[in-house]
Amino acid sequence: MKQYAKDYTLPSEQVKPMSIKTIETQHTSGVYAKRDLTIVRGAGATLWDDQGREFIDCVGGQGAANLGHTHPAIVAALTEQANKLITCPEMFYNDRRAELLSRLTSLAPKGMQRAFLTNSGTEAVEAAFKFARFSTQRRKIIAAMRGFHGRTMGALSATWNKKYRQPFAPLVPDFEHVPYNNLGKLATAVDNQTAAVVLEVVQGEGGVHPGTTEYLQGAQKLCREHGALLILDEVQTGFGRTGKLFALEHHGLRPDLLCLAKSIAGGVPMGAVLLGERVNELTPGIHGSTFGGNPLAASASLAALEVLETETLPQRAAQLGDYLINELRSIESPLIREVRGLGLMVGIEIKAKVAPYLKALTKRGVLALPTGLTVIRLLPPLVITREQLASVASALQEVLTE
Ligand SMILES: *Cc1c(COP(=O)(O)O)cnc(C)c1O
Repeated sequence: MKQYAKDYTLPSEQVKPMSIKTIETQHTSGVYAKRDLTIVRGAGATLWDDQGREFIDCVGGQGAANLGHTHPAIVAALTEQANKLITCPEMFYNDRRAELLSRLTSLAPKGMQRAFLTNSGTEAVEAAFKFARFSTQRRKIIAAMRGFHGRTMGALSATWNKKYRQPFAPLVPDFEHVPYNNLGKLATAVDNQTAAVVLEVVQGEGGVHPGTTEYLQGAQKLCREHGALLILDEVQTGFGRTGKLFALEHHGLRPDLLCLAKSIAGGVPMGAVLLGERVNELTPGIHGSTFGGNPLAASASLAALEVLETETLPQRAAQLGDYLINELRSIESPLIREVRGLGLMVGIEIKAKVAPYLKALTKRGVLALPTGLTVIRLLPPLVITREQLASVASALQEVLTE
């Protein structure tokens, strides 16, 4: 055997538990705050670590695992397509891509008949900004305070959190931020220089704040009046998360650009931006992506869309979300400031920093996310069982009342 660093020559199943953490710690970029857990397997809403310990997953791949882990339909679609064709740039037509484009646009709000396929959420947002500027021939883009749209330079320019933005200034010019859910402030910002307004339907990273119908419809109206485009970022809220296939359905919205990713392909990396009728024709060469629209991801996405429908996952998210939010609201604890959410996108704002509570939850076998310093965020797979959610609620009850 060749004498590389010893760990590298071992097949992954044989890497000793300690050395996994050691390797990552030595060689990772350092941009992630890591938890002391090595996750090696998943099924549905259950994850297992390298010690064989079992967890209920309320991280849900940060929103990418709406279908749960290793869903058999996704596994089958990937396996079948991997044997046919994995990569195929958009300079050629492809059967699976064509099928996906047709399916995705048939599920979108009326009039959204075109889509650009990407590999992530930030790329979908990036594409939406480029298309908005190209289509309107204007520059100004208005985003919301507490909004999150990704971390590449364009998407980052629309993201609010200073911690993400400041080290990388100067960002893209002509981005402005206004308070979320405040129509008056938005009205003073939108004018005939505005290319687009970009909003989440429920702010996710910003602390799980649902937008109001009045605000979101008002924003749409302002855009129409001023010739600006409305970009909805449903990267996190899409694909059943909030109790509808797309969260815009709660408010009857008709965006001009709709950004999607996370759970679009059952956990496989993919994104998309759908284009409405108010977006002008785009011309060859103004944008592109090597991996965008690849048949492997397209097959996974087709399978995911099918599962969302046959397993009625949006309805399931609505019912289970109501159940969970009710359970959480019935917890009597002076620590809890507010329980917010829509469907299975749930935030518990507490009067303390969340880190020790997330640790205590992990000890009880529940994995959850923070958002900001004081909100516990739950994004369980929509296939989670009611029994598992009951366990999540009682674990939260324990750690928040102890
Ligand atoms: C996660 C997220 C993004 C960025 O998606 P990536 O795939 O991580 O680039 C953009 N917008 C929203 C609303 C998100 O939640």
